[in-house]
Amino acid sequence: MKNYGFATKAIHVGQEPDPTTGAVTVPIYQTSTFAQEEPGKHRGYEYSRTGNPTRTALEKCLAALEEGKYCLTFASGMAAISAITTMLKSGDHVIACDDLYGGTRRLFEKILRNYSISFSYVDATTTKNVEAIIKSNTKMIWIETPTNPLLKIIDIKGISSIAKKHRILTVVDNTFASPYFQKPLLLGADIVIHSTTKYISGHSDVVGGAVITSNKEIYERLKFVQNAVGAIPSPFDSWLVLRGVRTLAIRMEKHWENAQKISEFLEEHPKIEKVIYPGLKSHPQHRLARKQMTGFSGIVSFEIKKGKKAAKQFLKNLKLFKLAESLGGVESLIEHPALMTHASIPKKDREKIGITGNLVRASIGIEDSKDLMQDLDNALTKI
Ligand SMILES: *Cc1c(COP(=O)(O)O)cnc(C)c1O
Repeated sequence: MKNYGFATKAIHVGQEPDPTTGAVTVPIYQTSTFAQEEPGKHRGYEYSRTGNPTRTALEKCLAALEEGKYCLTFASGMAAISAITTMLKSGDHVIACDDLYGGTRRLFEKILRNYSISFSYVDATTTKNVEAIIKSNTKMIWIETPTNPLLKIIDIKGISSIAKKHRILTVVDNTFASPYFQKPLLLGADIVIHSTTKYISGHSDVVGGAVITSNKEIYERLKFVQNAVGAIPSPFDSWLVLRGVRTLAIRMEKHWENAQKISEFLEEHPKIEKVIYPGLKSHPQHRLARKQMTGFSGIVSFEIKKGKKAAKQFLKNLKLFKLAESLGGVESLIEHPALMTHASIPKKDREKIGITGNLVRASIGIEDSKDLMQDLDNALTKI
């Protein structure tokens, strides 16, 4: 499958017709255990926490899409993230980008700090900022790009090469870009994580996570953790994610096309203060985005001119865009980071990084772009 393109791999890797029946869709192996011929002699599967054929199909496919050798899937993005952090020991230090996904920051601050692991947050758009705070006990650099919700772009190649020099692991949360637009392992990252809840499954009907790496040692350690800790996806959840993956390429093209059009439309709108989208020339890291991504994905953040009250009214006025957390599904969603996804960050810290009361974040779906623009325009006109 190596020479096939992305869309072909998404539909075929790990998804050979079922050997016993010829079913062209991978079956849901809804079983907890597998019969053995004699004690210890089995056909590759013993118990579904350790391994399940539906999950294996998904893991093979996701590894291929990220151009990695190995993939492990989990019950949620957070379960995948927490599995990676089990590689840390007390006394270790982690550097993370400052507008990190709220749940990741909560795990670091409210749980892992209790185990004497320390964290520093930095504006990682300047690679030098990261290098400046590396300590002798720094074991991991954790970045997201584009970041959430400010869509900052971080130089994966630059960060990974500094990390390598200091024997530090680079972890990239690739949820916002999806492997269709960005492949961090090819840029030097050691580990890629996904909330498969978002673009990878793409239909807002399942919660899941994945870890992809080409490093055998890391894989074996995390495979052990996956089984030992046990936060595995069910066969049905694995199947749902795999079904979503099959249309990832065509969905991402449409998310990008719609987001590009909408961001350009909003940039011209008199009620809008500022639009943040990596595909706009006005984005401060547009050039870097062009270099490390092959498209700009479907998240657009923007500020409403009249302030927080007007922003809330605007959200109320929308009809097609649903007010909801999460992102990456076929339907358009919109949210208010300061009041919703990022409410747990203290106001002072939030405003310092730019998550203000008039900021909204939209996950642009794959509806007809003219309907989406009409909805936005109607809602803006009424504030
Ligand atoms: C949603 C999300 C997560 C967490 O994933 P869950 O599937 O909700 O546990 C992690 N990182 C990013 C960037 C996300 O958007």
